[in-house]
Amino acid sequence: EGKLVIEGLCKRYGATTALEPSSLSVTEGEFLTLLGPSGSGKTTLLQLICGLVEASEGRVVIDGRDQSRMPVHQRDIGLVFQHYALFPHLTVAENIAFPLKMRRRPAAEIARRVEDALAMVHLGPLAKRFPRELSGGQQQRVALARCFVYQPSIILMDEPLGALDKKLREHMQIEIKRLHRESGATIVYVTHDQEEALALSDRICLMNHARIEQLGTPREIYERP
Ligand code: ADP
Ligand code: ADP
Repeated sequence: EGKLVIEGLCKRYGATTALEPSSLSVTEGEFLTLLGPSGSGKTTLLQLICGLVEASEGRVVIDGRDQSRMPVHQRDIGLVFQHYALFPHLTVAENIAFPLKMRRRPAAEIARRVEDALAMVHLGPLAKRFPRELSGGQQQRVALARCFVYQPSIILMDEPLGALDKKLREHMQIEIKRLHRESGATIVYVTHDQEEALALSDRICLMNHARIEQLGTPREIYERP
């Protein structure tokens, strides 16, 4: 579960090419980072993988299934963005429960899983608070818990730590690594921060000018003779 294959995937907006035809294979449980400057096509690639935008050419295959005709909400994919997008009128626990309610899980299961997820991100004591009562780092932990709670086999993260200060970012990197290890999910992570990519990734996909320039382990990319 969680094998992701991209075949000749391409996106054009009129005369602008947001992503040149690109191919890539991500193995189950891998942590892959898309690293590159602003405008290099990272977000476009993520949006194509989750189906938020339609490809001009090519396809996305997850566990052998072509995703082209699969509605976004049916894909086994979790999303975490830079701006946490929590529901302001729901408490922390209700935010985390939301994807499980959407999937009509039984109440007892929801209660158990939410409790586990809260413990996982050390937010148990804040379960009844509202997002506006939390710090940025706490809000992002809620967003992470809300994503991991329904155990998607693939998780896409677009600069999830971009709004946090340096100290908190380093702390959250450790949390994300731990969540990755414990969940076994395949993660595709977008950042323009090289240090962050080095700290987190099994492999790095270097992007520039709407194309994949290099793909390899941090060592292969940064320790070439
Ligand atoms: P990154 O995530 O690396 O910053 P993006 O994928 O957001 O890059 O953008 C890649 C290129 O595609 C940029 O030149 C951007 O302006 C363009 N682009 C992205 N989305 C759209 C859109 N909806 N309409 C037109 N151009 C877009
Ligand atoms: P990033 O943080 O990856 O640089 P942006 O802030 O550039 O992302 O883009 C945010 C949103 O705006 C994305 O959904 C992207 O598709 C869209 N977008 C980016 N560039 C353009 C553009 N030139 N025209 C229209 N939409 C765009």
